[in-house]
Amino acid sequence: MTEISIQNDRLVDLFTTLCSINSPPRQERAVVEYVKGFLRGLGLELREDNAAEIVGGDANNLIATLPANITGAPKIFFSAHFDTVEPNPNLKIIVQDGVIKTDGTSILGADDKAGMSAILEAVRIVVENNLPHGQIQLLLTVCEEIGLQGARALDLSLVDSDFGFVYDTGPPVGTVITQTPTHDTMRVRLIGKPAHAGVEPEKGINAIQMAAHAISQMKLGRIDAETTANIGSIHGGQATNVVCPEVVIMAEARSLNPDKVNAQVAHMTQLFEQAAQQFGGQAMIEIDRHYEGYTLTENDLPVQAVRRALHRLGMDAPMRPTGGGSDANVFIARGLPCCVVGTAHQKIHTHEEFVLIDDLAKSVDLTLAIIREVAEMR
Ligand code: ZN
Ligand code: CA
Repeated sequence: MTEISIQNDRLVDLFTTLCSINSPPRQERAVVEYVKGFLRGLGLELREDNAAEIVGGDANNLIATLPANITGAPKIFFSAHFDTVEPNPNLKIIVQDGVIKTDGTSILGADDKAGMSAILEAVRIVVENNLPHGQIQLLLTVCEEIGLQGARALDLSLVDSDFGFVYDTGPPVGTVITQTPTHDTMRVRLIGKPAHAGVEPEKGINAIQMAAHAISQMKLGRIDAETTANIGSIHGGQATNVVCPEVVIMAEARSLNPDKVNAQVAHMTQLFEQAAQQFGGQAMIEIDRHYEGYTLTENDLPVQAVRRALHRLGMDAPMRPTGGGSDANVFIARGLPCCVVGTAHQKIHTHEEFVLIDDLAKSVDLTLAIIREVAEMR
């Protein structure tokens, strides 16, 4: 097999072009159209789902398929997200000494356009050189930054992949995320009864007292090595002469072990409900699974593929847990095995965001090596 060398100039051009297209959540249409044009030119089959309607945005998720040119290899996907954490309509890009950054007045949008450009460039090289590969899908999502909404809305009937790779964490390139917590949020409304605090307090039910009673008995903070819980806010009450009729409490629980999240949320729920009952009030509790956690090992196929690809390239990268979520949490929970892979973006969600051109190129190398490893998994 001939060695393919990456043309840094056109890779930088692709990356900076993607960054230059403003694409905050729910406004990804322009960048989706650009990427569609790019992939159409390479002959991929393009499908959109109906995510725009579901998330209230102007763009759908894009599902692009490159049919296999060999038989028997697993079908894989690569994923990145179109949206950036905030708008950057007046982006000024500075390319200097192997670093791509902004003038410091906005984000760059490398999260996740570094991941996306690595995937797109690798596909371009595969097609141009007719490299051997199994079926490759690109699952390119909208609205990742606002609660993984695009991935949640993804139409799975358009997906036909055995496993995949989500390019959405920072260097070292090829870092694999092995573990993320399951994260629940709770909104608790405790409802008592108003009464004049001086004239007839016995006719009232004080929601603040109800909350205090429940929270004072609650296990909070660090529960164990892998579990935490927090009461983040409490709001309620108007005046000292009114028995407080209602408070709203926001709380959360996280654990690397989903059973422990469930247990912690059940514990908190039970204490709020008991207090409400004891005081003759009401507890209305909404629980939202922010994201589902996962644990991966070297035995999982996507992790194996990344590790072998790194080895083939003579590169090393750590496997590590993280405290946050990504589209991979949603994909795994929805039955699409995958792992998050480190790409080039650094200092994300800040105006100091930057990438090293070398890391961008390494991400393309890694993608090509993953494709090659998977082609040999026959
Ligand atoms: Zn991201
Ligand atoms: Ca982000």
